[in-house]
Formats: sequence, structure tokens, C-alpha cells
Amino acid sequence: MNNPSAESTRPQIVVLGTGGTIAGTATGDPSLPGYTAGVLSVDALLQGIPALSRLARIHTEQVANLDSKDMDFAVWTQLAERVAHWLAQPHIAACVISHGTDTLEETAYFLQLVHRTNKPVVLTAAMRPATALDADGPQNLLDAVRVAVQPQSRGLGVVCVLHGRVHSARDVTKASTHRMDAFTSGERGPLGEVDGDSLRLWRQPAAEPGAPFAIPAAEAWPRVEIVLNHAGADGALVRCLVANPALHPALRGLVIAGTGGGTVHQQLQAALLWAEQQGVRVQIASRVGPLRGGAEDGLNAVKLRVRLLLELGACRA
Ligand code: ASP
Repeated sequence: MNNPSAESTRPQIVVLGTGGTIAGTATGDPSLPGYTAGVLSVDALLQGIPALSRLARIHTEQVANLDSKDMDFAVWTQLAERVAHWLAQPHIAACVISHGTDTLEETAYFLQLVHRTNKPVVLTAAMRPATALDADGPQNLLDAVRVAVQPQSRGLGVVCVLHGRVHSARDVTKASTHRMDAFTSGERGPLGEVDGDSLRLWRQPAAEPGAPFAIPAAEAWPRVEIVLNHAGADGALVRCLVANPALHPALRGLVIAGTGGGTVHQQLQAALLWAEQQGVRVQIASRVGPLRGGAEDGLNAVKLRVRLLLELGACRA
């Protein structure tokens, strides 16, 4: 029987489903690797975790059900709007989002840059589909809810909870294609760890200059592409991108995943200077890992692109 006083004291949270391997099912023998991502509903995922009802009163919403390699601006916009909608309600303490691992870091950083409240937003994912014998989704979802209901999580911004670690959206990146412990926060390290029902915090997240940004209207998302520096990078790709009249929308920004500390081939460098003269914003990251210092401190190329998308989306060409 439900205890009515416990019922009224448990925090209320919302869990938004977007798909991913965490909602994936095997297409054949569950002990074999083949599966389809984004099949099960968020309700179905939560039904398998009875311990959740002890921690929180949970509302759910299925925002999407896709393989996160196919994430796009329309789903990002809808997700950000649903997060804002739920968190604006005084009785909702936090929001948990189940997601695919492939673009988790981009969605997390996007939400970090447009998010406006102190209430926790916690993303989680899994490396194994829901039908796998060693599925990691249930534990990760339980841990995400544990973090979401902690008063200490208020003000941390958007975090990702995976494999018992709490990562800030700015620092987290997927670093393994197969390990259960697939995510790292690089040299900065995670913000903390989940310890049973409690949260052990080691540090606070870095500030986010310029945030919160407005979400661009559907037709106002600018085109920002990522180009890699490598042996023989002669800048031809940049020249094609800038000078292609068929490209719609036209190129507004370029993020370069440079070598080492953000270096680029001299021929690519010449093409970038020309691109800037044509009005394209160019920003430099490193293909090795996040650069240190400046406004881009700690951002890898995909996150620098998210930031540039929002900066350029705010000022139309
Ligand atoms: N392709 C999957 C996705 O990102 C991978 C995963 O979730 O682990 O949706």
C-alpha cells in the first residue's frame, strides 16, 4: 500500500525519452551485437526499474524515438521547449533525458547553452540495448534520477550521468565505441560520482560565457560545418563550401578541427583567410582534444560548432 505522506514528499521529476541504444532492442539473439536503436518507449524503460518509485514521482514524455546519429535541429528545438515547459512548473524539481550516446555531448551542450533555470537537467544513455543480457540502461537511468533529485544538483547546469559518473555538458565526450565506461571529461575530469542514493561532488562546472542563448527559429539555423586538418589538407573543401551557390542555407561558420594545439596546413590556412574575407566566421578547435584558454576553453570541435550555431543564429546574415 502507498504511504500518503511519502507520496507527497517525494520530488516530482519528468523523464523525457528521445531514443538511442538505451531504448534499443535486439533484432535476433540478444546475446549477439545486432540491434535497432530507439524502439522502446520511455515508459517501457522505466517499468523495468521498480526502485525509481522510491526516489521520485515520475512524469514521462516521449519527445522523439531516434538513433541519435540522426539528431537534428528540429528535435533539439522541441526537446529544449519541452524541458523549459516542464521546468517552468513549480512542482517539477528536475528533468531527466534518455538519449543515444552518439550525439549525447552535442545535445547536452546545446541544452546547457539555452537552459535558463537552476533545476537539474540530467542526460543519460547506454552502450547496450535494453534487451542485452548486460544492459547498462536501467542502472544509468536509476543513477540519473538519483542525481536529479539531489538538492546539490541545483545550479550544476546540464549534466550527463553515465557509468556512475556525473559529467558536465561542457566537458563530456564519448571516447570509446564499445566500452561500457565510454565517456570521459578529459583532463578536467567528471564533476562527481553517484554513491548509492547520494551524490559525491568533486568540483563545480566551468562558467558558460554568453549563455543563455536564444534558440534559432526553424528557418534561422545557420550552416556551420566542421573541417579537419590532416596531411594534404589543401583548403579545396573550404573553397567548395564557401563558393557553392547551391548550398542552402549558405555557409556562415566553419569550425576547424586542427592538428595538435589547433594548427592548420598552410594551404588550408590560406583558404580560411579567404573564407573570412567572404564573411564566414572561422573558429579553431583541435582534433586531439579540447584546447585550453580563451572563450573556447575546453570545447571540442562538435561543441564549438554548437556554440557557433547559437551565436550566429542570434544574428541573422
Ligand atoms: N547509435 C546509438 C545512438 O546514439 C548509439 C547509442 O545510443 O549508444 O542512438
